[in-house]
Amino acid sequence: MVSTKDKSDQELIVKPSAYETCQPNMLCYDELYSSFDWQTAQNELDGLPGGGLNIAYEAVDRHVRAGRQDHVGLRWLAKSGARLDFTYGDLKCETDRFAALLVKLGLEPGDTVFSLLGRVPELYFAAFGALKAGAVFCPLFSAFGPEPVQSRMTIGKARVLVTTAQYYRRKVMPWREDLPSLRFVFIIDANDAPPEGTFDLADMLAGTASDFEIVKTQQDDPALLHFTSGTTGKPKGAVHVHEAVVAHLATARYALDLHPDDIYWCTADPGWVTGTSYGIVAPLASGVTMIVDEAEFEAKRWYDTLEREGVTVWYTAPTAIRMLMKAGADLAQGRDLSSLRFMASVGEPLNPDAVLWSQRVFGRPFHDNWWQTETGGIMIANYAAMDVKPGSMGKPLPGIEAAIVDHMEADGVSIIKTPMAVGELALRAGWPSMFRGYLGEKARYEACFNEGWYLSGDLAMRDADGYFWFVGRADDVIKSAGHLIGPFEVENALVDHPAVAEAAAIGIPDERAGEVVKAFVALKSGHEASEKLRREILGHARKRLGPAVAPRSIVFAEDLPKTRSGKIMRRLLKARELGLPEGDTSTLERMTA
Ligand code: ATP
Ligand code: MG
Repeated sequence: MVSTKDKSDQELIVKPSAYETCQPNMLCYDELYSSFDWQTAQNELDGLPGGGLNIAYEAVDRHVRAGRQDHVGLRWLAKSGARLDFTYGDLKCETDRFAALLVKLGLEPGDTVFSLLGRVPELYFAAFGALKAGAVFCPLFSAFGPEPVQSRMTIGKARVLVTTAQYYRRKVMPWREDLPSLRFVFIIDANDAPPEGTFDLADMLAGTASDFEIVKTQQDDPALLHFTSGTTGKPKGAVHVHEAVVAHLATARYALDLHPDDIYWCTADPGWVTGTSYGIVAPLASGVTMIVDEAEFEAKRWYDTLEREGVTVWYTAPTAIRMLMKAGADLAQGRDLSSLRFMASVGEPLNPDAVLWSQRVFGRPFHDNWWQTETGGIMIANYAAMDVKPGSMGKPLPGIEAAIVDHMEADGVSIIKTPMAVGELALRAGWPSMFRGYLGEKARYEACFNEGWYLSGDLAMRDADGYFWFVGRADDVIKSAGHLIGPFEVENALVDHPAVAEAAAIGIPDERAGEVVKAFVALKSGHEASEKLRREILGHARKRLGPAVAPRSIVFAEDLPKTRSGKIMRRLLKARELGLPEGDTSTLERMTA
């Protein structure tokens, strides 16, 4: 299945912005790409005293040993407006105590510790505490209902859970007896009266020592369990190992350009891999001050946070950027956002429109990057010192070999060299943060690899300059009258219309063409749905895309169905359209969670 696309968007280029405060970590992409090797990257880390590798040691204790114990590692912004700082020294102390408690209770290395918490400090202490005790940590998104919580904790054979009294009563108590492996439930807000069968965490921690000797984990020992977003089907549990921290540190340095004095804000919840790899591990491994905001998205609060905290590096998602765009650039007017040095985005295609908008509003572009739960870390990115081609995901990280391949026609994998030819995005297996299994799904894991390549399931193109362009998930691609249509290119053209805030394109069966494109669009505030506007948007799309690719029909939607991590669930639109079963909807964002 190879087709070549003409990419007029490619002509757009945003030049790197000058830095006033420091130099980017990567000055020349080609030079670093050719000289980089993972062993040297690993040498940046200390390793455990006496041998071994542990993520928590590298992210917390290493900085204390180096004399940075008074540097703020975590700045917590409570929903209430309160603001609490935890230095690296504080973090060491809190995580040591949690680890000591686990060991005291007989937790074995490899046991799984789950959290079901909002973005509160205890989540971060539990994460590193569990890792220090040699356990596997799995953070669950707090808005999950009882079923998704139960299925994930069952797959992960949970032994310990850290949660609140309310979440426990609503989301765990009803099925607790079905999971005998769950030995300890710690309640963070028990106020002396934890629900029956649970423990008050503060009580349990009282008297635990704050000088814990980290369990001697090795680089291939499991450390993190993360469930995928469920955009294309039932979420899979991807297992990551301690060695992943090598990639977290290197990618934070080059793809996010983190410097130790940065004030860094990753807006993702740790329930998704971005919120763990780049919202817990990578920033602390880099020694920065990371902002954790307990509250949900609110445009004014976000601008206030950027300004008041002097955020220097900001990592967010296209859906949030679109919400900021929807809220209007007026909210950014008159503010001092000059601290912002680098802005990046992940999770979904970033429309060129959004890159140009940020250039206008912040004076800097968003840098799109691509990766997956399975890859554990950023794999393809736009870098601080490299031209940005809006709409492109950028180039592979140093240490990562990426290619566009065809593995459908023959048994093997053939690399497609033609520029802008569509094929599956593949990565040469073996980078440190590569997942080491889908829990309980061995065959599925093995099917992801062929001839030493990891096959991502995403379709993409590579241009003559080596930039990668996202086309769509293999499952979402539309085949119409011999054309291979990526939903992203259709959605880009629609979002480009001034009235359109968001768009989703799907293929629906058609006798003659095989499939035709149907689009769902949500309008920006201030625009009313009407037949006249529908035709205007259709005309706009036809002009941009040509009749073969443009949607055959467009319908207006109040909102598009999305995962809680903000990804448009095209499979759900399609199932609804065709009257088919909706499949797994555990990660669907519901307005009344
Ligand atoms: P599931 O595998 O359960 O269907 P998911 O693939 O959405 O869910 P994640 O691992 O959270 O789960 O998301 C990874 C996917 O997100 C990628 O495979 C890709 O389709 C999409 N993605 C991530 N970053 C980008 C990006 N910069 N541009 C386009 N797509 C992206
Ligand atoms: Mg996936």
